[in-house]
Amino acid sequence: MNKIIIGNWKENPESLEIAKRLIKISNDSKSGVKIIHAVPSIYAGVLAKENNNIILQNISEFESGSHTGEISVKQMLDCGIKASIVGHSETRLSPSNSKGDEDQQVNLKIKNLIKNDCGFILCVGEYERLEPGLNGLNDYTDFVKQQLESCLTGVDKQEIADNVIAYEPVWAIGKNAKRAATNEEIIEMMKFIKSFIKEKFKVEAHVLYGGSVDENNAKEILNLEGVDGLLVGRASSDPAKWEKLLNNISTSPNLSFERRGTSAPVQKYNQIPDLNLKAGDKVILRLDMNVPINEKGEIVNDFRIQESLPTIKMLQDLGVKTTIVAHKEKGDFKIIAEYLKNKVNNFFFLDRDLQNGEVLLLDNVRLNEGEKKNDPEFARQLASLGNYYINEAFSASHREHASIVGIPNVLGAAKCALGPKFVQEITQLGSALKPTHPMFLVVGGAKFDTKLGMLAKFINIADNIFVGGALAHNFWKQKFNYNLGKSLLDEEVKLEENILQQVDKKISLPVDVIIESREVKSPAQISDNERIVDFGEVTLKNILNLANQANTIVWNGPLGYYEGGYEWGTKNLLLQLSEIQKQNPNKTIILG
Ligand code: 13P
Repeated sequence: MNKIIIGNWKENPESLEIAKRLIKISNDSKSGVKIIHAVPSIYAGVLAKENNNIILQNISEFESGSHTGEISVKQMLDCGIKASIVGHSETRLSPSNSKGDEDQQVNLKIKNLIKNDCGFILCVGEYERLEPGLNGLNDYTDFVKQQLESCLTGVDKQEIADNVIAYEPVWAIGKNAKRAATNEEIIEMMKFIKSFIKEKFKVEAHVLYGGSVDENNAKEILNLEGVDGLLVGRASSDPAKWEKLLNNISTSPNLSFERRGTSAPVQKYNQIPDLNLKAGDKVILRLDMNVPINEKGEIVNDFRIQESLPTIKMLQDLGVKTTIVAHKEKGDFKIIAEYLKNKVNNFFFLDRDLQNGEVLLLDNVRLNEGEKKNDPEFARQLASLGNYYINEAFSASHREHASIVGIPNVLGAAKCALGPKFVQEITQLGSALKPTHPMFLVVGGAKFDTKLGMLAKFINIADNIFVGGALAHNFWKQKFNYNLGKSLLDEEVKLEENILQQVDKKISLPVDVIIESREVKSPAQISDNERIVDFGEVTLKNILNLANQANTIVWNGPLGYYEGGYEWGTKNLLLQLSEIQKQNPNKTIILG
C-alpha cells in the first residue's frame, strides 16, 4: 500500500495564505508518499476547490442539518470533500476537553460517512500509560481494543479495509506530551491493532502513527515495521517544519494504488505504453484463465481466454518475452495449454528459454501453496521471471496473493502496469459507482465473501437489487428459515440486518426456482433431498421488469449452477439484456 502522511494542522495556520503555502509544499514534494491535509472547516471549501488532497479535521455525527458550529456530511460533500478524521484522541480523551466524542458518536460519524461513500480516518489511543510492570496488565491494548470494538460496531469489513486507523497515544501527543513513544511501543501497537482487525473482521487494517512526529523523527517512524503512514499534528501547521519533514522522508516507490476517500480523485496507474517496452524485455503477464471445464475435459466457456488474446498479441508484436501466470482453484493447466496452442503463435507450456515474441504459460500458480499465502520467497521466484509485470486479471485482483501483490512489491510500481482489459473493467466499475438512476443491480454467484462487500457497497447506491444464485439461499435461510435441501449454502455467512430489512423492498429474490430434476418449485417448498440450481420464468419476468425501468444495470455473477449445465436463467437474462440494450442504446449495462 502507498504510505500516507496526514497533516492535521493541529495548531491551525493563522491565515489562508499560510494554509495555501503548506499545501504548495506538499504538492511540490518528491517524498513519494501520499500527502493529505486535514483542514479546519473554515478553509475547507476554498482549499478543496483547487486541491484533491483535502479532508476535514472533524465532522459532526449529523448526516445533514448539523447543529450550530458543526459541519454535516452533506455539507462536507457539497464542498467537494470526501473524508474526515473522526475521534481525534486528544480531543476526545483529555479531561479538560468537554467537546470530546463518545465512542458511539464516533461510530455514528463513521456510518454516516460510509453511507455517503466518504472515507474516514479513525483515531484510537489510550490517555495514559502506566509504567510497565506496575499493574501487570496491558491496560493500553485493552483500552484500544475496546475503542476499536465500539467505534467499528456494524461497520462493513470492506470499509475497514478501504479506510485508515490512526494510533495516537495521548500521553505522547501535542504540547503536553509526557514523553515520546519508543519505536518498540509503536511497533507493538501497530501489530496489536492489525491483528485485532484481522481476527475480528478478516481484513488487513492500514494503521498510521500519530504522536509528536516531527521533521527529525518522521523518516524513522515511517519506516518502522507495520507503520503505514503518519498523522502529524504541530509540525504540519508550520511551513518550515513541514517542508523539512517532507524533504527528510524518502520511502519505497510511490505505488499506484490509492484508497477511496483519503485519495479523492481516483487512480493513477501505469498502462502498457507507460512501460516503454522494447523487443527482448521480459514481461510477466497475470491473466484470468480460470475457465469452466466439464468432466469430458472440454472448456465450456472460453470467454476469459478470448478476452486475453489481444493483450498477448500486443506483447508479441512488441517483441517481448511473455511469461503468463494464471490460476484456477484446482488441477493443472494441460487443457488450457492445449487450447492456447491453437490460438497463439510461438506458444510454449511449462518450460522454455524464451526468444523475442514468444509466450510461455506456467502451470496453475495455485499449485504452489506460497501463492495464496503471498509467501515472499515464492513472490521473489515469480518476479525473477521478468523485469516487468502486467496485471490483466481483474477478477483475481481483490486477492492478496503472490502473483497479484507479491510480484509488484518485488519489482516496484514503476515496472508494473494494468492491461487494457483491466483498465476497461475499472472504468466501467467507476460508472457503476456513480450511476444514472434508476440503477438496478443483479448479484449472483457463490463467492459469498466478495458478494457481501458488494451488497454493502451498493445498498445505498442502487435503486433496486436482484439477488440470485447461491447467494439467494442465504437470504431465504436467514430471513425465512426455509428448508433448502441440498442447495449450496454458506452457513458461516451472516447477512447484516440493514441488508435483510430490504428484502421485498429494494432487494428482490427469485420467486420460482428450478431443482436438479428440472422441476420448477417455490423456494419455500424444497425437500431434504432436492437442490436448487436455477431460477424460473416468473423470476426472469420480474428481473426484466426492473431492468426495463432502470437507466443503469449492473450484473455480477451467474444466477444458477451454470457450470453444471443449469444455465437457462443466466443465458436467457443475457439474451434479453442484449435485446434491451439494442432497443435502448442510452442505457448503461455493465456485466462484471
Ligand atoms: P503532534 O504531532 O503535535 O503530537 O499531534 C499529533 C496528533 O494530533 C495526531 O493526530
